[in-house]
Amino acid sequence: MMNLGIEPQMLPVEEAQQKIFSKFKQLDLEKKDLINSLGHFLGEDVIAPFDLPEKNNSAMDGFATKYLDVENCNQARVKLQVVGRVGAENVSNTILKKGQAIRIMTGGEIPTGADCVIPFEHTDSGPVRGSNYPSEVVVNKPVALGDNIRKSGLDYKIGEKVLEKGTYLNAPSVGVAASLGIDRILVVRKPIISVLSTGNEIVLPGREKKDGQIYDSNLFSIASAIKEAGGIPNICEVIPDEEDALEKVLDSCSDSDLIVSIGGVSKGDFDLIKDVLVRKGDINFWGIRMRPGKPLAFGELNLSGRKVYQIGLPGNPVSAYVCFELFVRPLILKMRGYKTILRETIRAKIDKTIQNDDQRKIFVRVKLIKHGSKYAAKVYEDQSSNILSSLVFANGLAICPEDCKVINSGDLVDVMTLDH
Ligand code: AMP
Ligand code: MG
Repeated sequence: MMNLGIEPQMLPVEEAQQKIFSKFKQLDLEKKDLINSLGHFLGEDVIAPFDLPEKNNSAMDGFATKYLDVENCNQARVKLQVVGRVGAENVSNTILKKGQAIRIMTGGEIPTGADCVIPFEHTDSGPVRGSNYPSEVVVNKPVALGDNIRKSGLDYKIGEKVLEKGTYLNAPSVGVAASLGIDRILVVRKPIISVLSTGNEIVLPGREKKDGQIYDSNLFSIASAIKEAGGIPNICEVIPDEEDALEKVLDSCSDSDLIVSIGGVSKGDFDLIKDVLVRKGDINFWGIRMRPGKPLAFGELNLSGRKVYQIGLPGNPVSAYVCFELFVRPLILKMRGYKTILRETIRAKIDKTIQNDDQRKIFVRVKLIKHGSKYAAKVYEDQSSNILSSLVFANGLAICPEDCKVINSGDLVDVMTLDH
């Protein structure tokens, strides 16, 4: 714990990440309506309760018949007696005899005695509306034994593991669960992240902005980034730099899995967050050896008898966003059940020289441009920590390591890729 007023401990990025990430684990499981389960990790194995498809059924609209009746239809004219019709929803009780066929639609159950389906295209028949269909059909072209019959259990057999616990539920896997009749499913809960911004100068868009005030951009970008990472943001009011107000809002966040505050963690006269956090819990303030985004707070608060972790991001919009990417997004993924929580890095050729004068890890806002199989990283002109346009421009953060004094234009560098 640092004493207020003393230069905070300067930590390397990786060490701060390690300290933070080690405190979190995958969240507990909850039952969800299947329709809302997309993007969650599965909390249970899904076992097929029946064969899929359940019955042998037709893959085509046409006629179910006996192969032996139609195998020679190329040489001699084959006429079959049509003894019924099976729609996709019907179950046929007819037992087919020699010389007979049943009109059958795609998905309809294959009647006993049939061993192939002749599509309409191989006959003199076609679709018929109403119940007045012809009582005979001429087959022009044979099919092989078993053709156009989808066997029961071909997709999944009863008792088979269809989806394994820990599977990421994408759209097709949600559909598979539905095909087995599942309407509620056990998944890893998504974290609720309270997000609050601080500052007397900050006002929400849509409210009256007095002279000297600025609109709150961080609350919106960080809440959106929380959503993008699959967290559920609980968006709090903007809090003035007053201890009582801050304390009240924090108390209202006791149900969250994490509190993310923005601003008020540096060394200004009105950076009061520290005072409150120290009083309400066990909070560390670190200087991270990085640029942008030096000051960061992390610790545990005691809120209405419940312990809740808090990360205090710096207020400058670029610093806040880069710190979110490095310290908050991976946590959200970890809580959701991801094994890989850090962004991918790729190698790219940088188009500008980067100087590193104070041994910090620099995250340079760049646009990655693909040329064949290689990438170029175009550096945004202004790299200051308040320049919002740099974030809109960038789809990657080129990394200059702490111990690297200079990256020359044309060098290959690691670039952390961003989603947008
Ligand atoms: P702080 O970390 O509170 O000292 O803020 C650093 C800088 O970021 C100041 O110029 C603030 O006005 C600005 N800032 C802080 N919070 C926000 C916010 N939510 N939206 C936009 N700018 C902010
Ligand atoms: Mg402030």
